[in-house]
Amino acid sequence: MATVKELAKSQPQSPIGMAYAFAEKAHSRQKRESGEPYFNHVLATAEILQTWRLDEPTIVAGLLHDAVEDAGIPLETIRKEFGEEAVFLVDGVTKLGRIKYRGAKSKLENMRKMVLALSQDLRVVFIKLADRLHNMQTLSALPPQKQKRIALETEEIYAPLAYRLGMQNLAGELYDLAFPYLFPKEERWLEEIALEHYESRKKYLEKIKPLIEETLKKNGIEPVVIDFRAKRRSSLYRKLLRHNLDMEKIYDLVAARIIVETIPECYGALGLIHEKWPPLPGRIKDYIAMPKPNGYRSLHTTVIGPENKIIEFQIRTRAMHDENEYGIAAHWLYEQKRSGEDKISPKKLTAEISWVQQLKNWLEKYRLQDEKPDEFLQAMKIDFFKDRIFVITPRGDVIDLPAGATPVDFAYHIHSEVGNSCVGAKVNGTLVPLNHELRSGDVVEIILQKNKKPTGDWLKFVKTAVARDHIKTALREKGGFAKIAKAPTKAELKIVMEDRVGLIKDISSIIARSHIKIINFHTQNSPGSKFPIDKVEIATADKQKIEKLIVKIKSIKGVREVSYKLA
Ligand code: MN
Repeated sequence: MATVKELAKSQPQSPIGMAYAFAEKAHSRQKRESGEPYFNHVLATAEILQTWRLDEPTIVAGLLHDAVEDAGIPLETIRKEFGEEAVFLVDGVTKLGRIKYRGAKSKLENMRKMVLALSQDLRVVFIKLADRLHNMQTLSALPPQKQKRIALETEEIYAPLAYRLGMQNLAGELYDLAFPYLFPKEERWLEEIALEHYESRKKYLEKIKPLIEETLKKNGIEPVVIDFRAKRRSSLYRKLLRHNLDMEKIYDLVAARIIVETIPECYGALGLIHEKWPPLPGRIKDYIAMPKPNGYRSLHTTVIGPENKIIEFQIRTRAMHDENEYGIAAHWLYEQKRSGEDKISPKKLTAEISWVQQLKNWLEKYRLQDEKPDEFLQAMKIDFFKDRIFVITPRGDVIDLPAGATPVDFAYHIHSEVGNSCVGAKVNGTLVPLNHELRSGDVVEIILQKNKKPTGDWLKFVKTAVARDHIKTALREKGGFAKIAKAPTKAELKIVMEDRVGLIKDISSIIARSHIKIINFHTQNSPGSKFPIDKVEIATADKQKIEKLIVKIKSIKGVREVSYKLA
């Protein structure tokens, strides 16, 4: 397979050739922190994408992925020169660059989801992963502070993401590259302890390799490859932690890998190995019949080999091997080869299914019926988080909100106090109104002012229950500051009347007939007035009702004057 550089040199007028020249020129004055030309990085990224066998637009976008953010080329220029698809992919990668993970409290799963949601197209994720792989390979050139942050982000976000996409090998490599930056002491310890074990295991396996080959061939199985895979440093360390750091308990420090052509040959080879060497109970794993959640398929077994040494075998077909290496990316191959029939709209994929489950289903589906490339192409368009958006705090934390959420929802999500004292917001550095609709990938900054209170208007546009509840509570409290403003619930009637026997009884029966409850009734002889005054407290604040009542009371003989006030 020709490298990207070879392709570019042999066909300078092809999209890859043009992107190569364009990127070389765009980054010509830039150097990486290692002192290397910056262009080396984008070329390396494109080369990685090439080895994953991704399509031409992805490789073009790989070459251009830093042109906007790091070389200041306007997106418009990319559009003119390379078209809409390239712009879409480059812009997607640029947006992903805004996420800066610092091991903050934000939920990790959110971060990973956001990477997918922001990408909208898995090819954007692939470019980001290729970019990250090369950055990790060259991480030693960066200052320690940055090394730590990038290694952590790789460990927490990108390696698990690669794993979920079925890119097992890439995931392992990313974990391994991050390991020495995150666990320097442990790395040195492993180096000392494990190295000799690795070496002696390898020698042992080299010795028995002809035995395996012979056994298979004698029984009609022609192995494609028999090789050995040393356990990844990072996963070895995790495993050692579970086994009291006892290296003798690690049976798969170096595993023998047998690759054959067909599935029956996998089971055949397993049988032959068991016939020759006794398997350890409980360690036979059939990931062909039951693939791992990320789609990994293989047969695993651990046997007691020659010299009573324990060996782990992994047996799989060539196709499985490819899929285990390239994961979901391996399907681009099918897409490029075949033409499609009927489609399943990704819209039909319900949002309730968790995204991991969904990825798994995709993998399953396209493995079983990989003659429907269009379905897969459709499914590559990530829109299964349609009703959620993922936005970023200025510190790089990810906040998961419903679609249509506003800066006010964002503020209340952070903290009720942030919500209550929010007076404005900036989205990607630009001031926006508080009812501005946020979009995935926006960096949102809330402008605060002390002792500010929310207004009832906010209730008209907020989307989250959290925001609504807090606003209502704050509005109630606000009312509490000025008790007078509280809605009245009762009234006091003031009745001036002549001194007549039975008059008070007449008044109270009229009030009762109007279905109004009397709370209090008292008569006083006020000085300076020759008539007594009745004060009646009634349990209504309904003005119309009260005014009607007053008309009735006034019609009673002996009543001179009636007035009221609400209380
Ligand atoms: Mn880059």
